[in-house]
Amino acid sequence: MTEYCIGIDLGTTYSCLAYIDEDGDPVVEKNFEQEETTPSVILFNENGEIIVGSPAKDMAMMYPPERIVTAIKRQMGQDYEVDMDGEKYNPIMLSAVILRKMINDFNENHGCDVKKAVITCPAYFGQNERDATKTAGTIAGLEDVTVINEPTAAAISFGFGNAGDGKKRVLVYDLGGGTFDVTILEIDGSSFTAVATDGERFLGGKDWDAVISKIVKEKVSEESGIDMDTLDADEEIKQTLVNDSETIKKRLSTAESTKGTLTVEGQKVVFTVTREEFEAASAGLIQTTIDIMDRVLASKDFAMSDIDEVVLVGGSSRMPQVKSAIAAKYPDAEVKVFDPDQSVAKGAALFSKSNSIMPAADAPVDPETGEVAPVEGVLSVHNVLSKTFGIKAMYEDGTEMISNIIFRNEVLPIESVKTYYPVDDGQSTIKVEIYEDAAVNDADGKKTAIIDGAPVGEFMMELPADVTKNTPIVVKFTATDEGILIASVDCMEQHTDYQIENDMKMSAEAIERSQGLMEKVSNAN
Ligand code: AMP
Repeated sequence: MTEYCIGIDLGTTYSCLAYIDEDGDPVVEKNFEQEETTPSVILFNENGEIIVGSPAKDMAMMYPPERIVTAIKRQMGQDYEVDMDGEKYNPIMLSAVILRKMINDFNENHGCDVKKAVITCPAYFGQNERDATKTAGTIAGLEDVTVINEPTAAAISFGFGNAGDGKKRVLVYDLGGGTFDVTILEIDGSSFTAVATDGERFLGGKDWDAVISKIVKEKVSEESGIDMDTLDADEEIKQTLVNDSETIKKRLSTAESTKGTLTVEGQKVVFTVTREEFEAASAGLIQTTIDIMDRVLASKDFAMSDIDEVVLVGGSSRMPQVKSAIAAKYPDAEVKVFDPDQSVAKGAALFSKSNSIMPAADAPVDPETGEVAPVEGVLSVHNVLSKTFGIKAMYEDGTEMISNIIFRNEVLPIESVKTYYPVDDGQSTIKVEIYEDAAVNDADGKKTAIIDGAPVGEFMMELPADVTKNTPIVVKFTATDEGILIASVDCMEQHTDYQIENDMKMSAEAIERSQGLMEKVSNAN
């Protein structure tokens, strides 16, 4: 049976699956509905069936909203559950349902049984969310899942399409359906190194849809005389506008204005929305993306002239306002809309292909590093740490702050050591409390107020009996290639290692139980 190299962009609003064809090119697989992207929408129907994609999105109007699940990616790695007919589903299971539908469709079309895939996630996903994504793949029936960052995948696909351009520094501006991120990557042949990343978890096409929804309601209210509060409270109008506002928004990406209709209290109201109105009402949203872009550039002291190309990906970057806002701020920027819906999935498929290339048994080994020499076709990918980590420490003036040890936007793997001292002579234990925050590695970033960080783990360590205030306690933080944090503490002969545990992790038994759920995923809608 052919073993395919599969890449899946598991998106907030749309997901996409790509594979490598016989010519070695990444191609997007059409789903059962013959679409290249699958809405990440799930409907639990009255017969106990689980319906995914466009059929679910189209039927959403006919079901109570609690039977429809959308934007589940926003809850990944969070303590969140959906209660459906007495069964509880967490974001991992629900993401698995979406993955299963896409894999089912692929298997059916190609007569295969896919067991291996590369799935993408936002660069800012922490360890919890990455683990959750991997587990979703396992529940969906995969045996081998690699998770890579969406901007890296987009850059891989961009690099593939622009081969032979030599060294390049690109800024990937990814405005999807629910999330926004900006990543600066350096591409050198087959090597992809992220050097800075930042983003906003709750900013995407959905927010632009909400702007359209508001404009439409204002117009309809004016036309019909029905006040806004009444329109806002009407569930049916709300549901209608979920789909209609997205359609209107998309039309305004090509047309300067568009007409629409909305039926309120039996009255059909015709309205017109112009691109100008839409852009004025969403100016604040687009400005937020520009601010984040500025922040990422500033975090590395880059000017736009240090960037060879700005690559726009994510479906929402099709809105003309994205290009014009960037051009207004950076007239000299080289901006390209690059395969916005598909580049992430295609890049993931290319990475999957690279993963499947094994160095020959007699491949030359670098005598210094002991590593096998780069193999033709194998991509080398390095990410940056997405958060800063430190520990709670007491300073000389008695204040407690987070003393930062390893910093976001540093290229993984990272190792960093800091030395602390006990507060008292003869102190018997210390409590090591690990925090994450957003500080950058500069003069001001060495410490962060506790209130600006989030605790991510803690452990107690016994100290040797004869410690004094002058006994060094050496804290080493290591972040692996995958961004997993390991803390180790040494005090005289005492040594403790600690790895942040993901308390949302599903047990093997729970994973197995969830796999049964996959049989309910229908693809013959
Ligand atoms: P993604 O998650 O990258 O697939 O992006 C999906 C988002 O892109 C959704 O919010 C879509 O409404 C939006 N989108 C797709 N096509 C267009 C378009 N032509 N104009 C504006 N937004 C679009």
